Amino acid sequence: MRIKFWGVRGSTPTPERRNSRYGGNTPCVEIRLANGTLIILDCGSGLRALGKNLLREFGERPIRGYIFLTHFHWDHIQGIPFFLPLYRKGNAFLFHSVLRKGNELQGAVEGQMVGPYFPVNMSVMGAERDFHDLDEHPVNLNGATISSAPLNHPQECVGYRIEADGGVFVFATDTEPGSAFHDKTVRELARGADVFAYDAQYTPEKLAADKKGWGHSSWLEGTRIASEVGVKHLVLFHHDPDHDDFFVDGLVEKAQQEFPRVSGASESTEIMLPKGSARQADLVAESNRRQENRYQIELPVRVEWGRSGGQMYTADGVSRDVSRRGIYFVTSGEVRSSQPIQLELVIPDEVTHRGDETIRFLVQPVRQDDLNGAHGLPQAKTGVAGRIYPEEAPPIAPTGLEEEDEAP
Ligand SMILES: [Zn+2]
Ligand SMILES: [Zn+2]
Repeated sequence: MRIKFWGVRGSTPTPERRNSRYGGNTPCVEIRLANGTLIILDCGSGLRALGKNLLREFGERPIRGYIFLTHFHWDHIQGIPFFLPLYRKGNAFLFHSVLRKGNELQGAVEGQMVGPYFPVNMSVMGAERDFHDLDEHPVNLNGATISSAPLNHPQECVGYRIEADGGVFVFATDTEPGSAFHDKTVRELARGADVFAYDAQYTPEKLAADKKGWGHSSWLEGTRIASEVGVKHLVLFHHDPDHDDFFVDGLVEKAQQEFPRVSGASESTEIMLPKGSARQADLVAESNRRQENRYQIELPVRVEWGRSGGQMYTADGVSRDVSRRGIYFVTSGEVRSSQPIQLELVIPDEVTHRGDETIRFLVQPVRQDDLNGAHGLPQAKTGVAGRIYPEEAPPIAPTGLEEEDEAP
């Protein structure tokens, strides 16, 4: 079974640069069984990108998906109107919830697509849709066993346990510790899981101080449950909108002191659970690799920097090597700055299929090479290695400081 996180943020989407490594989309997890069955857990804003990916993958072939919703708070359903496969005739999606009254499931899903909230209603969606409210008993689905447990959350929520292909994935988000009944049900659900994704929205301090009753938990409770019931790997999930990447890094580090195998859910996280056992070493290695990877990507870059005398300069170039922390690019011009430079990386439409996309960030140059046409680019004059600013850095401004560069 392959598990891919498309949205990991809690409460509201946070499309901000400081959040971009873990990601700003609200909850959505894709599960693919070895036999190809598509299961989707929650439909937060991450569902939109999953939809586009499915269309690319399936082409004209029909898509059939089994959607399981934990509850109907906006951050768990708001991706549905933007899930393109729902608009295509021939596709089929079966929505599931657990122990909801009346036709609450269908009403909740369709109810967000009515005026004055949305321009068209769900009847314009060509895909076949079906709604199933399950009872508390496990269901069998194309070789997977899916069970649920009630969680402690306002207006109620459930966690899901998916056992398939010899692996166990447990998804328990939007839950608060402190109710004896739910503390027990979440432990039963998580018992022996290969991967346990758990609500870690608040710090333990914040949870104890002023977030009681909001229905969320902390990394500390996650590590306690993981240790008590033999979880193999804990994934912290439902990150707080106000927690930037470095803050989440800090929470993961604290959690690792209590329980060794923890990672923070990020939109790029993909986990394989092979038959028989979870290869935890691989999982940890995968999350470490993600921190260290360097990618040889040649993409157009545009550089802008300030110089003495108040002028701004620009140069065009090509990226050669990009990692989480740094970039190496070559340019036909000269980049004479010891100050942060603004860099734009253009990912062309041939790659994105949704128009050119420009990524802007600040880079602190740390080394410049005189290339004289090396690197296979006859016009390449300068190679620049720079450190990418992890968060908001001061705006670039004309400066005279780079004159120091000129000194012998
Ligand atoms: Zn939520
Ligand atoms: Zn909620």
